[in-house]
Amino acid sequence: MKPDLTIVGAGLTGLTAAIEAAERGWRVTVAEAHSRPGGRARSLAAPYRANTGPHAIYVDGPWWAWLERRGLTPPIVEAPRYVSLVRAGGRLGPWPAELSEAIAALPAEAPTEESFRAWLLRHVDTKTAEAIVGVVFIFTFDHDPGRLSAAFAHQRLRRALAGGARYVAGGWSTLVGLLAERAASLGAQIRTQTRVPALPAGPAILATSLATARQLTGDRSLTWPSARMATVDLGLRADGDPGWFRAIDLDDRIYAARYSLADPTLAPPGHELIQISAACAPGERKTDAERRVQRLLDQSWPGWRAAVQWHRSAIRTHCTGAIDPPGTTWHDRPAVSRGNTLTVATDQSAAPGLLAEVGITAAQLALQQLGETPRPTQAHKRA
Ligand SMILES: Cc1cc2nc3c(=O)[nH]c(=O)nc-3n(C[C@H](O)[C@H](O)[C@H](O)COP(=O)(O)OP(=O)(O)OC[C@H]3O[C@@H](n4cnc5c(N)ncnc54)[C@H](O)[C@@H]3O)c2cc1C
Repeated sequence: MKPDLTIVGAGLTGLTAAIEAAERGWRVTVAEAHSRPGGRARSLAAPYRANTGPHAIYVDGPWWAWLERRGLTPPIVEAPRYVSLVRAGGRLGPWPAELSEAIAALPAEAPTEESFRAWLLRHVDTKTAEAIVGVVFIFTFDHDPGRLSAAFAHQRLRRALAGGARYVAGGWSTLVGLLAERAASLGAQIRTQTRVPALPAGPAILATSLATARQLTGDRSLTWPSARMATVDLGLRADGDPGWFRAIDLDDRIYAARYSLADPTLAPPGHELIQISAACAPGERKTDAERRVQRLLDQSWPGWRAAVQWHRSAIRTHCTGAIDPPGTTWHDRPAVSRGNTLTVATDQSAAPGLLAEVGITAAQLALQQLGETPRPTQAHKRA
């Protein structure tokens, strides 16, 4: 008998864990509450194939290497060579070259103990420091990344600007489909519309959000800070070209991208898909965040209101991964191992990486913890 492993959640983490576990000889069942796998990485079907969560996949990271080794890399596209429009210090203009120079001149390492803002102020003037804090919003989603650990914010900034970010062609459901197909071909059972109400018996990986893992286990130590933000998605008639691919409000912490410029399959011919993230301070209402987004669009895209065909918006909490306060690193987050047979692998777990990569590395730590039966299954030999 090969051992049985239950994975709760068929998001990126659960599907990656299912593939690797099946490769290692586990008999895997994945229980997924939703009718489709993918979790936050699901995207909508046409006409506007908006992503629910992630946009950028990092081709310089460990997960991409993992996908490459298995022939699972999705088709990707790069950001088009278009202007990035930036609002900083109340003024709208092209991305300031001096900001890139200031970021490049920062020391290669930053301390864990100090806040990002305090550390920046030892190296650049106040205006530049606030602009850099505004840039780091894009990769942390936090309303004030200046309050985070300098080491954490700085590492996110370096990694995100290293040039490894790409977009998954057709939306992230393309990658979810590849992962689910491979998991199934290795013999993993993916049971959709199956909400797990209590901890499974036997070896298990909870590959849910950290909050859901807390509810399932009743373990109140399963908590870690994460950002609060608003998302606004718009499908528009392509009546005119505002001349930018990204509009970034460093003052107000808003990031808007015309993703269908990079990948025209995301919107019908003659239409555009724009997806926008706006940081939300605790207590800020959705309507207020939307108003800030509208103000940026009014300034940067005359006529956008009349072109809107479809829109949706939401406040998102605890779903953009971990953020580390000063004095903490990923080692301090909730441990993956929760006993002999129970593991919790989330994007807020004690694992290294950038955004979705954290859940993936946590899944690998979970499989190490659970021990493996290394003999590959017949299905794996065939794949
Ligand atoms: C707006 C936004 C932008 C982002 N941008 C990026 C980005 O650019 N790049 C990047 O790498 N990451 C990004 N992220 C983060 C990324 O989306 C997540 O890190 C990643 O999708 C998490 O995957 P997961 O599988 O760990 O969790 P999830 O996707 O949350 O999957 C958990 C699954 O568990 C299921 N589930 C929950 N409870 C139960 C239960 N009781 N029984 C059965 N199933 C259950 C859920 O239905 C879900 O399918 C972004 C996130 C957001 C919200």
